[in-house]
Amino acid sequence: MKIADNLLAIKKTIPENVTLVAVSKTKPNTDILEAYEAGQRIFGENRALELKQKAEDLPKDIEWHFIGHPQSKQVKYFAPFVSLIHGIDSLKLLGVIDKEGQKNQRILKCLLEFHIAEESSKFGLSQNEAEEILANPEFHLLKHVQICGVMGMATYTDDKIQIKREFKILRNIFETLKQNYFADKPYFNTVSMGMSGDYQLAIEEGSTLVRIGSSIFGTR
Ligand SMILES: *Cc1c(COP(=O)(O)O)cnc(C)c1O
Repeated sequence: MKIADNLLAIKKTIPENVTLVAVSKTKPNTDILEAYEAGQRIFGENRALELKQKAEDLPKDIEWHFIGHPQSKQVKYFAPFVSLIHGIDSLKLLGVIDKEGQKNQRILKCLLEFHIAEESSKFGLSQNEAEEILANPEFHLLKHVQICGVMGMATYTDDKIQIKREFKILRNIFETLKQNYFADKPYFNTVSMGMSGDYQLAIEEGSTLVRIGSSIFGTR
């Protein structure tokens, strides 16, 4: 019952208004079921086909989050059931997701991913790039996507001050976008930040959703 114990210990450290996504990527269904039986209902995966297969095999009341960077042609694998897509970093990808939403007659909830870490990465928007998307008339034609907030990853470091500074930047981006583009949109309410190593710092800086894998399921 190691996974259940880990899960319950972590839940004790998370305030009630912060959502816990249990990141189950690469882990077998037996592990996911152990967390499920301990009460967890929200799981995160970062490979489209793995997510599709697990959703087929596991209980239907699981809420699945896609936390990676989907390739355009793979969005179709999870569009029928996914409850939140975290890693959006282009208008082009939003267009693809919108089409899949339309096909499935559902509105797909998405988070804009921001590059807040010092490390260079090909993923993640700057605040300016996000504002360009949100101000683009083409974005406003998309009726089957809903931008519900922001997501980001801090630098992998022991320097807590740096990690907190990066999370603070993401929280500030969220506040600015909310004020300028989503002031009358209560669904824009999610700040997805914090993983096994840094989720407590993320919560201190205003995270509303943490994505925790290895501290629950063990190392990958
Ligand atoms: C794997 C992953 C996590 C979980 O990381 P842990 O350090 O195992 O908690 C969180 N977010 C994203 C985007 C991931 O890919």
